[in-house]
Amino acid sequence: MSLDRRSFLKLAVTGALASPFGFDLAPAAAEAKRLKISRTTETRSICPYCSVSCGVIVHTRGDGKNTRRDVVHVEGDPDHPINLGTLCPKGATLKHYVMNDRRLTRVLHRPPGATEWAPMSWEEAVERIARRIKATRDAAFIEKDAEGRTVNRLESVAAIGGCTDTNELNWLFQKVARALGIVHLEQQSRI
Ligand code: SF4
Repeated sequence: MSLDRRSFLKLAVTGALASPFGFDLAPAAAEAKRLKISRTTETRSICPYCSVSCGVIVHTRGDGKNTRRDVVHVEGDPDHPINLGTLCPKGATLKHYVMNDRRLTRVLHRPPGATEWAPMSWEEAVERIARRIKATRDAAFIEKDAEGRTVNRLESVAAIGGCTDTNELNWLFQKVARALGIVHLEQQSRI
């Protein structure tokens, strides 16, 4: 059988190599997919990109001690009620969001007037945020409105939860926010 280069590539792309060569590549392709996720740990998670909050399964390999922990594959979770295993193109590229040299994994802080960002520890960042919230609340807490009614509210701080937060985390989040008197309280899923 004569097969020029253009025809060969065309057949390869359409997956029609089976008939001209007399063998079926489908089992090999299926095996390659199976091998890709063999010996991986499956972790259920949620796509962080938008408020749809699709369920995903993240396949990781390596224990992070003797071997590097890598995300080798991310797929839609077929048991998740929102997306039933499907992912949009953005969600389908999640692996590259995690395994990305440009991913920001530490706190960066740019002090007032500075032109460069500087690393800051999580402890320092959390303490700084807490101090800022307290200072703002102390200065701007509204105990009574213009007609003398008790309102106990803080209008100078807003709080927003992320789409990957669970119901339980959101419940805690709004409890803390309301305890501070925050009234501008939102959740990404509603945006
Ligand atoms: S997979 Fe797409 S639709 Fe689903 S949460 Fe991610 S970005 Fe949104």
